[in-house]
Amino acid sequence: MGKYWSKMARLYYRSASLDYVRGLLNYSLSCCVNALLQSFSATTELLDILNKCHPSDGTDERNVPLQLRNALEAMRDKSHPAPHINFLNCLYHQAIRPSTQQDADEIFHIVLNLSQKQMPDTAVAQEIRSLYEIKVETQVVCSKCKFIHRAPSSLFSLPLAICERENTLESCINSFFKLQKLPDSEKFYCDRCDEKQPCTHEVKLASLPPILCVHLKRFRNNDGFTRKLSNKVTFLETFSTGIFAAGQSENADCLKADECYSLYAVVVHIGTAMFGHYTAFIRSNQDEMWFYADDSRVQPVRDNTAYFLLYRKKSWNSSG
Ligand SMILES: [Zn+2]
Repeated sequence: MGKYWSKMARLYYRSASLDYVRGLLNYSLSCCVNALLQSFSATTELLDILNKCHPSDGTDERNVPLQLRNALEAMRDKSHPAPHINFLNCLYHQAIRPSTQQDADEIFHIVLNLSQKQMPDTAVAQEIRSLYEIKVETQVVCSKCKFIHRAPSSLFSLPLAICERENTLESCINSFFKLQKLPDSEKFYCDRCDEKQPCTHEVKLASLPPILCVHLKRFRNNDGFTRKLSNKVTFLETFSTGIFAAGQSENADCLKADECYSLYAVVVHIGTAMFGHYTAFIRSNQDEMWFYADDSRVQPVRDNTAYFLLYRKKSWNSSG
């Protein structure tokens, strides 16, 4: 990945004068929200959706979707002194504690869940959901009667475990969707057999969203002690949906069309589980240039550990 990062560093320095990514001051350890805001800002589809709703009280300080929209609009205004302060206060009032270490995936879910819940227009709330929603089906097969117990569910980010050696995005995806035999200590209650049985467990993909978020699970909890896995994960700037094909039905609707995803934002975690810092790499929609945002500052690229990847779906055959 070293080659990859240094390539991005060059792109950044060449284009720094374009001033596309607007720096955000760090208030009360807000680097996690700042990095996420940079990724939301790069997700231009999100602001388009938020702008479809115009609540009568445009100044409601407690309304997350309204304050998110205001922050994303203000980030486009270079002269705005504090584009995200009201959004931070809005989150601090109701969902997260200021001045604490935060988890980017957790904050991402809080922001998306509150954006839907507090959105007065239900059709717009559904559009926010559809933009990110990964639909899956969990299948538990009873080893005795062979009945398949199916449970549909949805995710806003694909939670991928990483192993303690080198990983590729594809190997992490394959592990997530791999058939697993649950240990005998974790028998499953089968209502057909009316008793606990050994079983296998598998997640099947049902559909992929326009914006695909990948959460690389770098924090592992062992006996109440959280440590960070800094192992390398190699990922491509573009991939086709064929990367998901292993273990899936050949008829999976979302895999029939050979579609392509293109990386446009990376949220990075630097440091340890206890003392960490978040930054973001963002690709401009217009000119395909990469930018590096470290709160309000610009810094040389260091040895970073990607934590959160955002891919945008595009037609596999399109030139863009
Ligand atoms: Zn059974």
